[in-house]
Amino acid sequence: MNAAYFTLGCKVNHYDTQSIAEKMACMGYEDVTKKDIAADVVIINTCAVTNESERKSRQLIRRLRMANPNALIVVTGCYAQINPEQIKASTGADLVFGTNDREHIPLAISKYFSVDASESSNLDKSMFPSSRTRAYLKIQDGCKMFCSYCIVPYARNNISCLSIDEIVSKAKALEEEGYKEIVITGIHLASYKHEKYDLADALKSVADNTGIERIRLGSLEPKLLSERFISRLHCIKDKLCPHFHISLQSASPAILAAMNRHYSPEYYMEACNRVRENFEDAMITTDIIVGFPSEGEKEFEQTCEFVKKAGFSHVHIFPFSPKKGTPAASFENQVPNKIKHMRVDKLGRICTEVRNEILCKLVGRKYKVLCEKHEDNLSEGFSSNYLRVKYHSKTDDTAAVTDVKIVGHEDGVLTGEKLIDLQNY
Ligand code: SF4
Repeated sequence: MNAAYFTLGCKVNHYDTQSIAEKMACMGYEDVTKKDIAADVVIINTCAVTNESERKSRQLIRRLRMANPNALIVVTGCYAQINPEQIKASTGADLVFGTNDREHIPLAISKYFSVDASESSNLDKSMFPSSRTRAYLKIQDGCKMFCSYCIVPYARNNISCLSIDEIVSKAKALEEEGYKEIVITGIHLASYKHEKYDLADALKSVADNTGIERIRLGSLEPKLLSERFISRLHCIKDKLCPHFHISLQSASPAILAAMNRHYSPEYYMEACNRVRENFEDAMITTDIIVGFPSEGEKEFEQTCEFVKKAGFSHVHIFPFSPKKGTPAASFENQVPNKIKHMRVDKLGRICTEVRNEILCKLVGRKYKVLCEKHEDNLSEGFSSNYLRVKYHSKTDDTAAVTDVKIVGHEDGVLTGEKLIDLQNY
């Protein structure tokens, strides 16, 4: 039997899909996601963060239903949690699981096909591909922040955190499976707390007790990045990737207040400065929502000016999409779509300029690149500070860390020359 996996949305969803895929592998299901063959089971992890995400989720399910008429179509994720009936009624999905039930998916599938899961419950590492690069390790679930535009606290409002022992043991398992890099994720990582331990303790435990070479942090809140927290991260700087994704959303104080986000643009900028003072060559990425209700030209310009100064290496820009069930959906002064899209374009151009300025300054630098794919003598991967790098290589460097000298950039991607192959692990 085989299965294919599709994920929409955030890093946490990617982690959840990976986790389901690993359990399915233990039950003997070959992963055929990247192969051009019909799958027996198609698992789709959906997103509901915006109306657009829900639309894309439905579209993907329908497309996969049509492409795999004989497959068992299984849907999970936030959209499945919030609106299972809509999925069942309009997409042709066979099984729908909310976020709280997703761990039952492998067993439910085995029951569906009457396969005894216990027969194949011994984890056979050889089933996993050997060339693994980056894995997601979710240590926290749930959010109670209630940003006024976000549906997540309504879909995942139970905060649960792995213990330090569980985190280390999962990280060790990923290391044994061959992963070089793990991304520590959570729905709201700043809420990580288990007994007396916080996120910095969790990261230090992984750094001290495993041989994982790169530890990358998922999305962070600016409020987390206090002087003390950053100095504790600094102690593990040899392993912690100097890449920080810090959600901004807007740089207008009025809009941040309407979003129910409790920081000022000044505080955010200070957090970026603290990061840069402590981590050499740190890159900061962010998310911005444009066209939030009441965002006028003045508020939008505040965000544009901030972006010019903050030096983000990448920005995910989202036009505000009113999400049914959230306070912001019924706010007055909704911004017309036409204006939202004009603002997305304008901010996108500014972000591209900022990014190109950053990339220009990196010509001549050397980076260690963890290669993720190789095609037509071209290898591609990420530096530890999360810059995409392409370089010529006659050998397939996938899953190897390679020294690359940067010679230029093209379409937002650094181009380089391979210096030496480090050992292939
Ligand atoms: S912090 Fe805000 S945006 Fe992030 S998951 Fe929680 S409510 Fe949603």
